[in-house]
Amino acid sequence: MLEDKNQSTSNLEELGEFGLIEKLTNQFEVKDKTTIKGIGDDAAVLNHGDEQTVVSTDMLVEGVHFDVTYVPLKHLGYKAVVVNLSDIYAMNAIPKQITVSIAVSSRYSVEALEEIYSGIKLACEFYNIDLVGGDTTSSLKGLIISVTSIGSAPKDKIVYRNGAQENDLICVTGDLGAAYMGLQLLEREKAVFRENSDMQPDMTGNEYVLERQLKPEARRDVIKTLGEMQIMPTSMIDISDGLASEIMHLCKQSDKGAQIYEDKIPIDYHTYKIAEDFNFNATTAALNGGEDYELLFTISQKDFEVVKGIPGIAIIGHIADSGSGITMVARGEQVVELQAQGWNAFQNKSE
Ligand code: ADP
Ligand code: MG
Repeated sequence: MLEDKNQSTSNLEELGEFGLIEKLTNQFEVKDKTTIKGIGDDAAVLNHGDEQTVVSTDMLVEGVHFDVTYVPLKHLGYKAVVVNLSDIYAMNAIPKQITVSIAVSSRYSVEALEEIYSGIKLACEFYNIDLVGGDTTSSLKGLIISVTSIGSAPKDKIVYRNGAQENDLICVTGDLGAAYMGLQLLEREKAVFRENSDMQPDMTGNEYVLERQLKPEARRDVIKTLGEMQIMPTSMIDISDGLASEIMHLCKQSDKGAQIYEDKIPIDYHTYKIAEDFNFNATTAALNGGEDYELLFTISQKDFEVVKGIPGIAIIGHIADSGSGITMVARGEQVVELQAQGWNAFQNKSE
């Protein structure tokens, strides 16, 4: 979806690969001192000094991970970067560089790609990272974007998934389930529009969940605050596939169990309201939705007083021994076993 639909468009073939790369990347300047060489040579050169390097990559495929009938291209570029940075922050590291590879069909105009890159640029500016390379190729059908992010952290500051200890407290940042409800709204409006193209979607009042779906942010602020308060989580993961499946990852890798409390799971008022409209359980959206890009981490009990005082962090339960499984105390006080539905890329279209 182009921002200005009346803009005249130019053909990819006319410009050619090198012209296109130049057009897409010439606005990016190198900012970070760890970037020795960015775009333009056979490879980028980075200097992370004495720190360890942290690398993560994600690929987004049109029709599987995004739908250009309702996702603005600028947001797509922004989100493609942010979801990647989220993985680096989840290691308690700081992202410094990204590479971006795209495969495009001739259905896309030069202007459409420039719009994606304007979103990529916005993310680079906001998160203070350098675009240092990538690859550009054609695809027979649709658009594929792959982003790799590179960051660094001192060796003793990196937080893995496997460090949770029995009795550690389980913490969640922000609120959960909103991005999933945003997706449901967009899908519903798309279906309505298909039936009757005179019906223009009315999204008033739904801005919060739509923004959570279309323009998520990575929790750099939380990583910064925890660092300033000298809190080292014992384990951490970002919430991309829903709370349930992320808790399972932490527990599996740490060889522990967990108990969480339904009434402690942070869910925004707007999420409740829209879930109600859809006749959908908001807790289910939080547990099994996805794309919230919040952080799930565990802390040692001794850090409780400090973490309790940080706004925007909810303590939702504790780590248990591996024999006790992964359970949730529901609102009615019955104890239920958590199921990891998450999003399996091979089963579910909307991962
Ligand atoms: P090579 O043939 O060595 O792969 P390319 O012509 O593909 O070189 O790329 C030239 C430069 O532009 C390299 O620095 C590469 O990393 C960068 N680049 C290519 N495509 C992109 C892209 N889509 N986004 C950002 N940088 C890119
Ligand atoms: Mg290349």
